[in-house]
Amino acid sequence: MTICLDQLTDAVALRSLVSKICPACGRRKREGQSLCPQDYFRLPRPLRVNLWQKITDGYLEALLEAMKTLGTGRLHVPAIKG
Ligand SMILES: [Zn+2]
Repeated sequence: MTICLDQLTDAVALRSLVSKICPACGRRKREGQSLCPQDYFRLPRPLRVNLWQKITDGYLEALLEAMKTLGTGRLHVPAIKG
């Protein structure tokens, strides 16, 4: 499923982080990584570093900034089970 950037919450951001779906493109990524390698390496270095530094604090903002930099209007997120 996809959601608008303004529907992104902390809970959704963390669910995305531990999923295998890249939020920017919907392709596969590794669990615990924010993005697939293709999108990750399109980010300027400060934003890449930000994604790791902010996992416990302000991750939502770091992910939003990354999405805007990548020009992604909608996020691919795993569907809620059940
Ligand atoms: Zn991707």
